[in-house]
Amino acid sequence: MNIQNMEVIILILLLGGGSFYMYTIFQHEEEFVPEPQVALEEEERIDLYTCQGVDTSDPEWKDKTILLDPGHMLFDGDEGFSNASNGFSESTMVREIAQSLSFSGSNFLGTRSLEKEEVASTNDRVQRILAQNPALIISFHVGEGENTLNAFVSSTSENIQESRKLACNIINAIIQNDELHNGNIEIEGRNVISLNPKFYNENDPEFILRTKKPAVLLEMGSINIARNENFLTSKLELGEAIYKGIGDYYE
Ligand SMILES: [Zn+2]
Repeated sequence: MNIQNMEVIILILLLGGGSFYMYTIFQHEEEFVPEPQVALEEEERIDLYTCQGVDTSDPEWKDKTILLDPGHMLFDGDEGFSNASNGFSESTMVREIAQSLSFSGSNFLGTRSLEKEEVASTNDRVQRILAQNPALIISFHVGEGENTLNAFVSSTSENIQESRKLACNIINAIIQNDELHNGNIEIEGRNVISLNPKFYNENDPEFILRTKKPAVLLEMGSINIARNENFLTSKLELGEAIYKGIGDYYE
């Protein structure tokens, strides 16, 4: 074999090796193509034990106002979902859950009365938020479908990391509370969903997420589950679980 042939063979080997190398790199990179980002709406199943994100630790949090927003009663007759067979009315259920949570500390206040069904318009609530300048806002709703925990946060808020972490801590605390599972239908799923509240109008529940504060809208369980199997009727335990979630957020 002469020198020229050797050169040709080496060249072929180099070209072949090079393209194989490029091919493996290409293959390798393919595995790491990130999930496409949806700008306005995304949904993810939350991992139970990892609420990562920003540092929100605050040993003084019990001195700071936390506004509880029981959904509905924006106008007369606005009771949200209802179920005649078990006698549930969403507006009453969420108010009683918020009231139960408020027993944990004097820093918990409502955007409407926590004692009785009393109309408070969206404007009333916005005024209360502005006057109270709360550290957090938590809005409560009940679903009508599957027995899930859905937490909605604003995708446009500068506090989206805080809101997501709060949602994660509260959901975890509810799922980890054994009393809530005792004899009740199991919670089937949990999601943190970000949405743009600018696409919602004044009488939509999501409107409240226009706030600049860290805020979560919790849609819990289902109005259509019987009274004796529905974790939403364990109001004291649910209040305690949500309180624990808030404490974890500030830890
Ligand atoms: Zn609702």
